[in-house]
Amino acid sequence: MLNKAISYTLPVVPKPIVGFFAKDYIAGERLDDAVRTVKEIMDEGGCATIDVLGEEITSEEQALHAVEIYKQVLQRINSEKLDSNISLKPTHLGLKLNKDFCYNNIRELVTFARNYNNFVRIDMEDHTATSDTLNIYLRLREEFDNVGTVLQAYLRRTVTDINKLIPIRPNLRICKGIYREPYQLAYHDREIIVQNFGYILEKLFLNNCYIGIATHDEKVVWEALRLIDKYNIQSNRYEFQMLLGVMPELRRVIIKAGHKLRVYVPFGAEWFKYSTRRLKENPHIVGDIIQGMFRKKR
Ligand SMILES: Cc1cc2nc3c(=O)[nH]c(=O)nc-3n(C[C@H](O)[C@H](O)[C@H](O)COP(=O)(O)OP(=O)(O)OC[C@H]3O[C@@H](n4cnc5c(N)ncnc54)[C@H](O)[C@@H]3O)c2cc1C
Repeated sequence: MLNKAISYTLPVVPKPIVGFFAKDYIAGERLDDAVRTVKEIMDEGGCATIDVLGEEITSEEQALHAVEIYKQVLQRINSEKLDSNISLKPTHLGLKLNKDFCYNNIRELVTFARNYNNFVRIDMEDHTATSDTLNIYLRLREEFDNVGTVLQAYLRRTVTDINKLIPIRPNLRICKGIYREPYQLAYHDREIIVQNFGYILEKLFLNNCYIGIATHDEKVVWEALRLIDKYNIQSNRYEFQMLLGVMPELRRVIIKAGHKLRVYVPFGAEWFKYSTRRLKENPHIVGDIIQGMFRKKR
């Protein structure tokens, strides 16, 4: 209740206060900030995926601007020899304006990334974008291997989607899902979501797919480790993924145990909108952040 109340008041919270809450979760406003953060993660033994903040744009110019920034990111990754790929959101590249326009923008980035021997991850947004995102992914896979997408364990449709994707040996990030979805479409019971996560991982491991296991939940991490051990899954078939600023201790534990771990590094001027949206979307996170702030102060 308290979390929810706080999250609803977020839009009127002054920018510096949201910035204080959000600063651990965002590299900064500039590409230099993201580059510095990725280098720190690499020093720890991890790798990264860089996200240019921005979603639900309202003009084609904004989408084309995002394409240009992503190209700069790929060039910097290459010139600085960073162990990083990129993650992007279809609505940032124009999905809600025109699906073909969005497809062409993402295709241009996947082509650009391929020239640098790099990889593009298409994030998954709320349910209004699921089918379009999967269609874009399937279309791209007819031409490219250096592209992957995301499926959310909370969506009831995900197991069916996986059955459809398995024949193309997809490269998938699996996460619980961050958006508030209606009960008809998504499991709300946290325990069922965890079990579905495990079920999905097992299905993908058994079908030789590459999996990004994106979670900070120890139960899910344990289930993934159990399956990796049970089926003797080789290290080139999976990686763990975590968000910047979240559970760095667990991150270090996973790296120390010899697993590949990728950190999601968002940066950009759009941090305020992103932060308020994210905090509002997941009231549990608001509580975590506030607790974290008090923990830091002690
Ligand atoms: C690399 C990565 C990429 C993602 N991409 C997508 C995507 O494309 N689409 C999508 O819908 N969702 C995405 N997510 C978000 C994901 O769906 C979950 O909402 C989020 O990871 C929380 O779920 P969890 O598995 O960590 O479990 P939870 O049970 O929610 O979290 C476990 C513990 O981690 C901590 N924690 C988790 N998240 C945060 C946070 N943000 N701030 C502070 N503490 C936190 C809490 O202490 C909590 O107790 C991504 C997550 C990661 C790690």
